[in-house]
Amino acid sequence: MSDQPHIQFHDGRSIPQVGLGVWQTPNETAITAVDAALKAGYRHVDTAAIYNNEQGVGEGIRKSGVDRKDIYLTTKLWNDDQGFDSTLRAFDKSLQRLGTDYVDLYLIHWPSPKRNKYRDTWKAFVRLQEEGRARSIGVSNFGAEHLEAIIGDTGVTPVLNQVELHPDFQQKELRAAHKRFGIQTESWSPLGQGILLANETVGEVARKLGRTPAQVIIRWHIQHGLVVIPKSVTPSRIVENFQVFDFELDASDLKALDSLDDAGGRIGPNPATAGF
Ligand code: NAD
Repeated sequence: MSDQPHIQFHDGRSIPQVGLGVWQTPNETAITAVDAALKAGYRHVDTAAIYNNEQGVGEGIRKSGVDRKDIYLTTKLWNDDQGFDSTLRAFDKSLQRLGTDYVDLYLIHWPSPKRNKYRDTWKAFVRLQEEGRARSIGVSNFGAEHLEAIIGDTGVTPVLNQVELHPDFQQKELRAAHKRFGIQTESWSPLGQGILLANETVGEVARKLGRTPAQVIIRWHIQHGLVVIPKSVTPSRIVENFQVFDFELDASDLKALDSLDDAGGRIGPNPATAGF
């Protein structure tokens, strides 16, 4: 699928806007889910060391027969491995498990401010990018103050910050900060972990357009310029979640979904107070 939208980064590279998320997916299931997604046209997969499925993701990629160079692969450094040397070691292990010699995007999974190691960790990320083994480098769950610190230390701005974001938790303030820094926003739990699929407003828009609630929400992310990584391990849903490039939400649909924003809509941990 060469006509799927890509988003341009400040480092000259670009990312397919829609990818497959594989959190809470064991290795065996990851093989079939990644294979199904690549056969459905996805070219972007989002995993992490802590998901314990990098091996399955790598096998799924090889099983699909799609060339590695045509696939955008993201993985993340787990909190326990933060620090300069330990980051370099953890990265090597991720590559081994994935069975590849580079990733397209490497992310610091959480700032974990209590550890106070994310600044040294970022310096190791800069090294990995210089070596060409992490083509682009970014972060996840960072607040504006963490972004400022690592940019100030190194002069290197993360290409992207992957954060919890869905219609009922829209992160408008953080997105405005990203805009100032030139950082792309990526939405994790874009479907609100499935909870939002039963939302009345989403259902109304879906019925009007003859689309499914999941497609409507994914479209909302796309039209807001967000990178979006919905998760499913069910082949029919994997296909459904990618059939989002042949319709549009109009201004009134967007307005209805925008109005769902709720400061209390967070589902996952708050990065500022998370205990890990
Ligand atoms: P999600 O919002 O993508 O929702 C996934 C759930 O929605 C599925 O398990 C399924 O129950 C349901 N679903 C998906 N498609 C459907 C469809 N078409 N019809 C009906 N139900 C459907 O949840 P998520 O997995 O939490 O987030 C997506 C990805 O984001 C993860 O897999 C992971 O890659 C990433 N993520 C990152 C972080 C982080 O800290 N960086 C945290 C959470 C998730």
